[in-house]
Amino acid sequence: MNMFPPETVLGAFRYLHSLIRRKQLAVAGSCLQCGKCCESLCISVDGGFIESEYQFREACAKDPRYERFVITGQDSFGPLVFKCSSLVANRCADYGNRLEFCSNYPTTNLYFTGRNVLPGCGFRFSYE
Ligand code: SF4
Ligand code: SF4
Repeated sequence: MNMFPPETVLGAFRYLHSLIRRKQLAVAGSCLQCGKCCESLCISVDGGFIESEYQFREACAKDPRYERFVITGQDSFGPLVFKCSSLVANRCADYGNRLEFCSNYPTTNLYFTGRNVLPGCGFRFSYE
């Protein structure tokens, strides 16, 4: 049995690689406002991805802003996948009240969890 999902292994490899290179990973590019990252996202709370409806209800109880998210499925590694009901015509209809992870997306943490920005996203990860 494989205890470590491939993304976890890739993330660890990337982290070690960055240490060896001694270079700083940066986020380059800009948002093209395609809205894709609001249509299909995994949500991290307290350092881990939400993987159950129970965890999601807990997150909503702590911060009602999470209630805008709708569960659409589960990715192959466990985290639930959501779409955001605040996305209207590819725009955030609640921009001033969006979650912190919305305004910070994408962070280098995404890269070090073995994930990437979505295809077509205007951002990319690069070493400075
Ligand atoms: S996927 Fe990338 S380009 Fe599209 S809205 Fe999100 S951050 Fe912007
Ligand atoms: S709150 Fe706005 S920025 Fe955040 S996921 Fe929803 S539509 Fe996107």
